Order: sequence, then structure tokens, then C-alpha cells
Amino acid sequence: MTPSPEGLHLSGFFAVRQTNYGGRACFAQRNISRGTIILESKEPVGCTVCYDFRKEVCHRCFHYEGGNTMKFKLSAEDLQAFVIKIYPSGKEMETLLKKGSFLGAGLWFCSDLCRRDFLTLRDVSVLLISFEKLLRLFQSQNKARAAQKSEETGADPIAADINKHIEQRWSQIETEWIPRLSKLKDTRQQMEAPILTEEEYISVRFVIDTLWRIRADNLKKELCTRNQAFECLQSNEISKIRRAPSLLMSQIKIFQTLYIILPFELKSFLTSTLFRHIIGADYANSFGIWELGLQSDARELLGYWMIPEASFFNHSCAPNVDKRRIGNTLHFVTNKDINANEQLCIDYSGILDLDVKERQKSFSENWFFNCTCDRCSLELKAV
Ligand SMILES: [Zn+2]
Ligand SMILES: [Zn+2]
Repeated sequence: MTPSPEGLHLSGFFAVRQTNYGGRACFAQRNISRGTIILESKEPVGCTVCYDFRKEVCHRCFHYEGGNTMKFKLSAEDLQAFVIKIYPSGKEMETLLKKGSFLGAGLWFCSDLCRRDFLTLRDVSVLLISFEKLLRLFQSQNKARAAQKSEETGADPIAADINKHIEQRWSQIETEWIPRLSKLKDTRQQMEAPILTEEEYISVRFVIDTLWRIRADNLKKELCTRNQAFECLQSNEISKIRRAPSLLMSQIKIFQTLYIILPFELKSFLTSTLFRHIIGADYANSFGIWELGLQSDARELLGYWMIPEASFFNHSCAPNVDKRRIGNTLHFVTNKDINANEQLCIDYSGILDLDVKERQKSFSENWFFNCTCDRCSLELKAV
């Protein structure tokens, strides 16, 4: 059972309440004038850049220059200078550097400033070791991946009882796969790693980033609102798998890869329950990281991030709150004067220009809901 977000202090401007028509919603706690930033999110609970943009987007500030490769990568010297000092006992890091073949963890930056900023994040070495090991594994699979692409991959049959099917598959992982793997030496474990697609590679990175941030919050002594809000997020695991059954196999591959490559700092709290919540919450709640400065139909989707504090806004086709990204900060800004107790809504879709029938089709296919906002009701009546 997902805990309730009611009572969490997410912002001084609004509170999350259960509605009598079902579901949770954000309500203004007082009158708010137009143009007010009601929530500022600097730190998501997890984020990643998409595969096609991995070299073209800064991994710190999400700067993008129309497809140009970012100029700054991480080098072994950077790690010597920054990371080793902060994380002196990192055995795995030393091993990676000794071989003299550090690949840069698959990260690119727009400037030396962003690179340095990233390198001074707390416990960044844990993140870097995970990304670097993943990249090495992924590259070692290049040939096998190319061969696999040309093969026909049959779709999983849809099980009659999808819940039972999902539980059975995860139970197999817990009771058969993990015990079997644990008996193998490190090098043999690597050989058990499933061959990842590009999309799965990015999903592994997203989960690594999420685990790393949750761990950082757990290390803090005081209760962290972001973690509490994360636990309250709804999961779309079942509805997504029902629609695309092959996702289950994909999720299991992602979990297996994590289980094989993660350093103990992250692996120690990788459970299938937490993993499934991260993935399921991602399906239901992640925001796109969009290219700046263009019309919504012309901009690129550069990546995605999960921001639990901002995940309780409902959708409206006439939203009263806009999202504005400045670098790696997302602002939620009122676009009209709002009265106390009025519901605050955002646009999930970026398709508000479409007519009501097309919008409704897209909502049910991509976001699993039928929009009953005032604008839709009015426009549907007119059709
Ligand atoms: Zn940058
Ligand atoms: Zn609507």
C-alpha cells in the first residue's frame, strides 16, 4: 500500500489533499498572485539524459547546443584530483584508474565549471564507479547486441493474470537467480549479465542515479521530504506491463545488471521491492527534460527526471501552473491569480494545441487517464 502524501510539507503555497471525487490533488493554501514560483526543484530523486543525446547534453546543467558534442569529459586526472581525495579508501576506484583505461563514465559536460561542480557532489565516486562499470559492460556487449538486433525477438505472451505473472517472475529472481549468482566469482558474475539495449542502458543509469540520491538522503540524519514524497508516488507498473508485456523482461534485465555491477554502497539496499517502485513511479511520474527556447512541437526530449514534490499536481488542459526549466532547476509558476483552496494543475502533455478528441486519445494511451478537466468537458459538449 502506497503511503499518503497528505501532511507532507512540500511547499508553503500548497498542500496535498485527498479529493472526494477520488485521487489526490494540490490545493492553494492562500491567495497566490500570478507569476509566483510555488515550487522550485533543484534536486530530482533521479534523472538521466536520453541515449541519443548522451554526448550532446551537459550532465550537470542539461545545456544543449543543437546537436554539438559537449566539450568536457572526465579524465583519470580529474578523479585523482577530486574524487580520490574525497573518497580515499575507494578500492574499486583505484582499480579502475590503475588499468589506465578510464572511459569517462559516459558523462559529458558543457564547461569546466559544470564538470567541477559535478565532481564535488557528495559521494560522487559511488556514482562514477557504477556508471563506469556499466559503460564497460555495455561496450563489451557491442558485438552481441548487433547480432541480437538482426534476430527476431518474439513478444512475451500476455498472461491471463498479469499480477500473478509479475509476482512469479520476481519471486524466481529472489529465490533462484540471486542465490545462484551469489555463488559465482566476480568475473563469472559479469558473464551472467544480460545484453542490454540502448534504452535499457539508460534505464540502468536512471536507477543508479536514483539509488545514489536516495542513499545520500538516507545518510542525512533528519527526515527528508523528498524521500518521503518519493515513497508516496503511485506506480504504473501493472498498467504499463499489461500494455507492453515485453517490459517485464526488460525490467528484470535492468535489475540483473544492477545486481552484478553495483558497488556495495548501492547494492546493499537494492531490493526488488525498491527497484520496482523506482521503475513503476518513473512510468507514472517522471517529467521530460525538454530543450529550451522552442515551441513544444519542435523541441527535443533530452532526458527525464523524477521530482516527487511536484508529482501530486493533477493535469488540466487549461493549467494554472506552468513549468519553467532554468538549467537543472525546474520552477512551477502560477500563470494567473489563484484563490485559496483552488486546485493547482499543470499540463502533463505538451499537446494542448490539439483538439479535444486527439488529446483524449493521447491521455488514455500515454498517461492512462481520461481527462475530465473543465476545458475538455466544455469542448466535448460542443463536439
Ligand atoms: Zn553544464
Ligand atoms: Zn482536459
